[in-house]
Amino acid sequence: MKATRRQFLIAAGLLPLVRPLRAAGERVVIVGGGWGGLSAASHLRRLAPEIDVTLVDRQTAFASFALSNRWLVDHGASNIETRDYAAVAANWGYRFVQASVDSIDRAQRTVTTSTGRLPYDWLILAPGIRENYAAWQVDDPKAVADLRQRHSGAMLNAAELPALKKRLAGFKGGDMLMTIPPAPYRCPPAPYERAMLIAWWLKTQKIPGKLVIIDPNPMMPAFRSILLDRFKAQITYLDHASVRQVDAARKTVTTDTDDIRFDEALICPPQEAADLLWQAGLIRRDDGGNATGWADQGGLGFRSVADERVFIIGDAAGLVSPLFGHYPKTGHVANRMGAIVARQIAASVSGKTFPALLPESVCHVVSSVEPLEYTRIDTSYRQRGDGFLMQQVKQTREPNPAGEDVAWAEAMYRDFLRP
Ligand SMILES: Cc1cc2nc3c(=O)[nH]c(=O)nc-3n(C[C@H](O)[C@H](O)[C@H](O)COP(=O)(O)OP(=O)(O)OC[C@H]3O[C@@H](n4cnc5c(N)ncnc54)[C@H](O)[C@@H]3O)c2cc1C
Repeated sequence: MKATRRQFLIAAGLLPLVRPLRAAGERVVIVGGGWGGLSAASHLRRLAPEIDVTLVDRQTAFASFALSNRWLVDHGASNIETRDYAAVAANWGYRFVQASVDSIDRAQRTVTTSTGRLPYDWLILAPGIRENYAAWQVDDPKAVADLRQRHSGAMLNAAELPALKKRLAGFKGGDMLMTIPPAPYRCPPAPYERAMLIAWWLKTQKIPGKLVIIDPNPMMPAFRSILLDRFKAQITYLDHASVRQVDAARKTVTTDTDDIRFDEALICPPQEAADLLWQAGLIRRDDGGNATGWADQGGLGFRSVADERVFIIGDAAGLVSPLFGHYPKTGHVANRMGAIVARQIAASVSGKTFPALLPESVCHVVSSVEPLEYTRIDTSYRQRGDGFLMQQVKQTREPNPAGEDVAWAEAMYRDFLRP
């Protein structure tokens, strides 16, 4: 479906959507109870209590990836945050429906779920990502399920983390393979932090094993010397290497140049926007008409280019600027997008205009274990005179960390989990 000029300008955030004052009772349906969807729901509750808000997720509970790398190897973090949706929704005062959203009828403004149809006036889509195993020649659903069960790198769903922790605990030695997805993928520093913590754990637990990393991207500079020098004995790093095929039965990954056998593996295939966005025809196409893999929404207001009643937030979001590409796929950005969309909807239903706001991201990564050191990554945005968005990334070493990551996570959870 081709977008009109007005739809395009609204989606880009360049034209405010001002509507006449409507009576209370407008309905917002939010699909996806991750960092983006939960943020939108809690902010809508605070900003516009008269709006009817329904959150739909196929799972029963939220589980967080934040601090999970430390938790996997018992380095400080004692648990991962999980929270039943029913309790979160009751606390904030919105409705939760546990169901899978199977389709969207944008003309009728309804979503069809596994438990029935839900009408909406505004739809917020925050369904996260899917993993593209077919890109690595694993396309039979049973083979995908088997690979995920035995060797998932647990980047899709934080509920998979306990199984990964168990697999790590059972690793007695040999080659542990870890693939890093091609960019863009969620939480850019996470694989490097995880690799460093696993290397530290192999070393301190005296496990006769090696972590073999296949990385198609340039390595994050903050990790270069620690991964390549300090943990030289624990890490084999294959730079700019692309996976072509995974053969779970033979425990072998084929790259452009080699067949690599593994004893254990954390397989993280290429990532894309979640299925629902493909099904709803909301994926961005490039100039050649090919699907980019990510959603088509504005960079300022996160409105779908195809439909001004639909917002797309979180990791599923696609290109926002030719200058830097995507917003980083982090929980922090997803949270800010949810808050921004909530403000737009609240303003629209009360007939007000809403000034464009841009997200930002803060990330505390463990960049050295002994001695303990964090790197704080601050990402901020501004709009250039010609309308293009610019990104500024600042990395600061924190040589004497004092629980900054835990304090950050607690502040985020207070915003959308605990009123
Ligand atoms: C190892 C790791 C560590 C990380 N650490 C951090 C960190 O420290 N800080 C940070 O900011 N970010 C971190 N992140 C990134 C962060 O987890 C993601 O950016 C965030 O989860 C994105 O939120 P989201 O709302 O877009 O998607 P998600 O959190 O994935 O939520 C999507 C939800 O949608 C639901 N859903 C999908 N499709 C449907 C459907 N059709 N019907 C019903 N429900 C559906 C899913 O069940 C899911 O609950 C980390 C990521 C990883 C992998």
